[in-house]
Amino acid sequence: MENPIKTLIETEFGFRLNQNQWRDIECLLLEIMRRDRSSPEEIVKYLKEKSRAQKHCGREKFFYLKKTLIEKRFPLTSATAKIGAKDLFLPKQRPALADNWQTQKIFKPLKIFIEKSVKDSELAADFKKHFPGVAVEEIDQYGSYLKKEKFNLGLLKKPLAFIVKEGWDFIKPCPCTSGHLGCGYWILNLGFGCPFDCSYCFLQIYTNFPGIILPANLDDFFTQFDTFHKKLQAPIRLGTGEFCDSLALDHITGYSRKLIPYFRDKNVIFELKTKSNNIKNLLEINPPANIVISWSLNPQPLITVEEISVADLAQRLEAAKQIQDKGYKIGFHFDPVIFYPGWQDAYKELIRLLYSRLKPPFAWISIGTLRGTRELKIASQLRFPQSDIFYGELLPGEDKKLRYPQFLRKEIYKNMVQWIRRYDKQTPVYLCMENADNWRVIGDGFSAPGKIEQYLIKC
Ligand code: SF4
Repeated sequence: MENPIKTLIETEFGFRLNQNQWRDIECLLLEIMRRDRSSPEEIVKYLKEKSRAQKHCGREKFFYLKKTLIEKRFPLTSATAKIGAKDLFLPKQRPALADNWQTQKIFKPLKIFIEKSVKDSELAADFKKHFPGVAVEEIDQYGSYLKKEKFNLGLLKKPLAFIVKEGWDFIKPCPCTSGHLGCGYWILNLGFGCPFDCSYCFLQIYTNFPGIILPANLDDFFTQFDTFHKKLQAPIRLGTGEFCDSLALDHITGYSRKLIPYFRDKNVIFELKTKSNNIKNLLEINPPANIVISWSLNPQPLITVEEISVADLAQRLEAAKQIQDKGYKIGFHFDPVIFYPGWQDAYKELIRLLYSRLKPPFAWISIGTLRGTRELKIASQLRFPQSDIFYGELLPGEDKKLRYPQFLRKEIYKNMVQWIRRYDKQTPVYLCMENADNWRVIGDGFSAPGKIEQYLIKC
């Protein structure tokens, strides 16, 4: 059956679109309609006013329509540069997944799978105690689950817990992204999967496993780290929170109760990064000077739509206050900063709120703008029909990820740093996955990852 929007365009502009032409036009049209909440008739009216398509014939009509749609879809970039076909990523619009597991504010597994090798572990016992009545199954290896149950994206957030004996390396350097300046961060892999659900989360494309995988063999990590630590020439920054939220399940796993005492006398700055207010365990620990507890922040309207089941902004700030009052060092991450109409007022207010509640200086503040692979955009489209952040001014960047254009990122960083510096001259501010040019917003001399690392560690 003929697509009614295609028919409308063909009728109004008096020509037939071939299959390839329609694919381009359709993607642009649907993304604009979704972003602007506009109707096909409104866009046709716009095209009649703005494009010169009607004055031309045949193939030329198509070029003028496409050019006008590209300008409407990416108005800021179009105003500064010509956007070629290769600069675009316009995936076919797909309907949202009909079956997509939703997270709940309080995580409760449907079933707990425990690898036989850790069946007597403390973590297995804690899970059973915390969730009496939830079915438990002993398995040889968590990977064998996939032999019985096929994975699809809709199952990503199915509330399953896997208690495992982790065999691979617990610690690795953060890969950052190609062609950008890293900050020398190290990642501690403590679990995979998250009870929260953020529309921009890269886990949506990074995993083919449902639920949450949690290692029960922390002692093996400590042995591994003892060896690694002996070789360290200088302190490093290290943290969990890459493949899960550091504290979301801490009331069950109790990881913080083990990690903080372990790192207390190590030559590292250890960070727990969260979007939760799950701080009860932390409040019962005497805070060492080399531990940083940090929160990712966004304006509340964005949290409501894009970060599902996480703590509200007010709850995160309240948790940060209690943690700071307890004597911990705290940090913040404005990541991802999302560009949308009104972003300036929203982020300015967010920064004002932060400094009205918490006392600087902080251990650090990072800023990163929205980015993600092409696959992430597709996954987010399928799982978050209410979200339109991927219909923003995102184009494939130097590292092939979808990013805001360079000039826009620079403007965002400049503004964010300026707003932060109004309240706080001391806290080191750094950029996440950014290029040397954007780093100039922070200051001169940040041309290599080593320099960034020194700057953050010294502070
Ligand atoms: S809190 Fe982090 S790990 Fe969890 S869903 Fe959000 S972005 Fe992903």
